[in-house]
Amino acid sequence: MNKPSTHQSKRASPPAATAPSGDSAAAAEEAALYKLFISPGQSELTSGRLMNKLRTAGILDDDPRAREIFKKLLAHRDDKSAVSFEEFGELFALNPSLFQRVAEDSLVIPNWDQFSVSVQGIVTDISKLTGGKVASYIPELARVPAEKFGLSLCTVDGQRAHFGDAQDQFSIQSISKTISYCIASEEVGAETLHQSIGREPSGHSFNAITLDSRGRPHNPMINAGAIVSCSLIRSNESASTRFAHVFDRWKDLTADGDVSFNNTVFLSERDSADRNFALAYFLRENAAFPKNTDIRATLDFYFQCCSVEMTCDSMAIAAATLANGGVNPLTDKRVFSTETVKNCLSLMHSCGMYDFSGEFAFLIGVPAKSGVGGGIMVVIPEVMGFCIWSPPLDVLGNSVRGIEFCKRLMSKYSFHNFDIVAGSDAQKIDPTQRRKSVNNARIVDLCWAAAKGDTREIQRLVASGADLNGADYDGRTALHIAASEGQAVSVKYILQNGGSPEAKDRWGNSPLQDAQRGGHAEIVTIFQQQGQ
Ligand code: GLU
Repeated sequence: MNKPSTHQSKRASPPAATAPSGDSAAAAEEAALYKLFISPGQSELTSGRLMNKLRTAGILDDDPRAREIFKKLLAHRDDKSAVSFEEFGELFALNPSLFQRVAEDSLVIPNWDQFSVSVQGIVTDISKLTGGKVASYIPELARVPAEKFGLSLCTVDGQRAHFGDAQDQFSIQSISKTISYCIASEEVGAETLHQSIGREPSGHSFNAITLDSRGRPHNPMINAGAIVSCSLIRSNESASTRFAHVFDRWKDLTADGDVSFNNTVFLSERDSADRNFALAYFLRENAAFPKNTDIRATLDFYFQCCSVEMTCDSMAIAAATLANGGVNPLTDKRVFSTETVKNCLSLMHSCGMYDFSGEFAFLIGVPAKSGVGGGIMVVIPEVMGFCIWSPPLDVLGNSVRGIEFCKRLMSKYSFHNFDIVAGSDAQKIDPTQRRKSVNNARIVDLCWAAAKGDTREIQRLVASGADLNGADYDGRTALHIAASEGQAVSVKYILQNGGSPEAKDRWGNSPLQDAQRGGHAEIVTIFQQQGQ
């Protein structure tokens, strides 16, 4: 059910379930959802209840997918005023799949509320940690209060939460290297880019004057590599066009979030950049730049990229976009290809955390990138991204509280890349698990309904989010089962609603072959009418 409702009648209450066809099927789905939103024991949905359901699922008021919905609900007299079925239909039509997934608790972290409370507990503990030193190589960073501490989370379904100073702007510094790499890679192609930049951890500090045996910077997550990435971005265009291009990508990644440029930081970076100048001349001496690279312009561009400021809220959305394979979960806009994101995450995983990268990969086990401003962007592929910001740094240049938060989070939840091989570790929680078991249970229910020819039940399950093409352990879909059991009405319904006749079970059989084997001539005809 991904299409907006088309109901037009003026109804005050949900209709009884109707036969599965056209508009009435959509109306029945809506009625089922309306009921799911109503509090137990109540007969009416209130605006407060609906807003609360959305917010506790992690859908916030400024979410571009839900802004209009909240606006309409906030226009109610108060939280207790009723949302009629007709109004529900209008709100539902603004984003049917979001409503459905919230009602069904099928977002990637189903118990978002509980998960957020648990994260809040870790944040509270970590906030007691002291130690580390705020970066002091430029006055703008030295001046940031050491006690600042923010964290934002955003899942691949756009569920969000924030804690502490998550809406303060901070200097992203080296976190910019990730996105400069993605942009350069999409512009010149990954193969060409890696002729100029390697993909090995360097084993040296982030600003060391060193190249690999082929005369390239070791990787794009250290200064030399990031300077070369910058040299590749729109190299024939004006400085303003080049920076606007990078800035716009950050805007896309953050769903038009809080992103700004701090000119004072930029000027200070340039004034204190002897090492980066030395690096750039060393790169040129070793022919590591494309021909005709203007060193000053390239370094300015690099310093500008480091001088972008952002909130944890925005950075978490950018991280979630990477976790979601390059598609922003709040806008559905593709920002980078899956290939680019895969490459970037691989490099963040091996090289993103300064001289702690190997330890981080071992202990925490997910891609991350740190900056001397005290921010860390962390990506948990297919689950969520988060950004933690606390300025005091350890001796390796990573935020003290940031690292400790990651350790604590990973010791509680099975987010480490390789927790899968330690599946028996009952100590760790998989907060996404319910979704998987709910989906599996729905597939079993679908298969049963198909076997019995209970088309109405199939319709109900689909309305509640079951995947019509979901397959059981043997690769058998509801269509296979309905076809082999001779359930013609169900077969027709499944085919009309997106069930795939191409599905093959683990013995390589299609639903049509099942119908033939079972001697169900009527069903064979239905498939033939579908062009099978
Ligand atoms: N602007 C800094 C430099 O190039 C970035 C430092 C960092 O965050 O690693 O030295």
